[in-house]
Amino acid sequence: MTDATRPGPADGGSADGSVPADCSEALSRLFEFLDAEVDELDGDRIRQHLADCEPCLGEYDIEQHLKSLVRRSCHDVAPTELHLRIRQQLTVLRGEVQDRG
Ligand SMILES: [Zn+2]
Repeated sequence: MTDATRPGPADGGSADGSVPADCSEALSRLFEFLDAEVDELDGDRIRQHLADCEPCLGEYDIEQHLKSLVRRSCHDVAPTELHLRIRQQLTVLRGEVQDRG
């Protein structure tokens, strides 16, 4: 019986790319995600991570980051609108976390 070579997913391989994002990816792409600048698959992975990982959602100083983002782009973007849009996304995410806990 030497059938050890049957086809199957390799260890550590992300065959279909549907592994959840890790903390650093989730945080580094958080604002792309909030601003809907990631594609559907990546957005899903980041969302999935944030829903699973309360520290990412809770400890990351989103408000501070948001302020600097708004300040930087206030020449081009209406800050209130951007602020509201991001807040809306965060509310959805936090709702999901609470649902699970
Ligand atoms: Zn995390």
